[in-house]
Amino acid sequence: TDTDTADEAVRATCDDASICKRFATSKGYWKDPYVQYFVRSVGERKAPEINRGYYARVQGMNHLLDAFIRKTECDCQVISLGAGLDTTFWRLKDENLMPRKYFEVDFPTVVARKIHNIKTKPPLSKPLIETHSTDSLLLDGHSLDSDRYCIVGADLRDISNLDEKLKKFQLNPELPTLLVTECVLVYMTPSQSSRLVHWAADTFHTAMFINYEQVNMSDRFGQVMVENLQRRQCNLAGVEACQSLDSQKERFLKAGWEHADALDMMTVYSVLPQDDVTRIERLEFLDEKELLQQLLQHYSICWAIKDKLKLGLAQLAF
Ligand code: SAM
Repeated sequence: TDTDTADEAVRATCDDASICKRFATSKGYWKDPYVQYFVRSVGERKAPEINRGYYARVQGMNHLLDAFIRKTECDCQVISLGAGLDTTFWRLKDENLMPRKYFEVDFPTVVARKIHNIKTKPPLSKPLIETHSTDSLLLDGHSLDSDRYCIVGADLRDISNLDEKLKKFQLNPELPTLLVTECVLVYMTPSQSSRLVHWAADTFHTAMFINYEQVNMSDRFGQVMVENLQRRQCNLAGVEACQSLDSQKERFLKAGWEHADALDMMTVYSVLPQDDVTRIERLEFLDEKELLQQLLQHYSICWAIKDKLKLGLAQLAF
């Protein structure tokens, strides 16, 4: 059916993200020794503005993620929704920033592929075994559950199923919780993503939600971006919620979050540590500075908090 085709195109977007991350890391934009186990070859060249865009995305998301984990002194859990082939779990292990438990959710077929890679690649499975104490490690085709890392196959549009599965794997609603969606909500209708954001606000009393996705999509450049994605049969059901930074924040404030902030990626890029930005700007010559600006102005990071435990989550920013 059309829905199956659209969902299949959405599932394929996890490869796009990892292929671009693999290419940018091969050029030295940032280090990720694990992405190679999910994307075998470096693949064809990507334009310098794409690599810089991914650099801003990854550094921007890592900045808030690490700030949350430090603020809670690792006494927290992280839930990456629509995680795809993301490698953050292994980075946090290497940097001694592991939360009590790191959860990932994606469609069952994506999860099955990820688990297959973990099973067959020792550099991926070793850290998982090292952080596991008993012999009860669950590793079947559809889910993985260890003491510190859990991968669940579920559709994010089906909240009751999502909630049930996460609780089955010892999700703890009392623990400070970080939820992350990186290029995920745009594939759901505004009411579906609102329900997800609502569920998170209802489930956790002390939490942060970080969302990275398109913004300012109603201008000319935004329209071209939408057309390009639609040409690949990708169902951008959520693009309506990506009109402005205000609409990004509204989604959270309407759903019961106490406080929300949003920045476009041009602003994020300009406040990232500038010595490292100078370093990456020397990696590849970029002729069209304006194109990079246009691109970065059409992506954003929005983050929202609830802070019943008064940990000072409202201070987390750039
Ligand atoms: N967050 C990862 C990253 O940035 O590298 C992957 C991003 S990829 C563009 C979008 C991911 O969201 C895909 O892996 C896709 O399967 C997942 N996704 C989208 N809609 C979903 C849904 N309704 N349920 C579960 N996963 C979903």
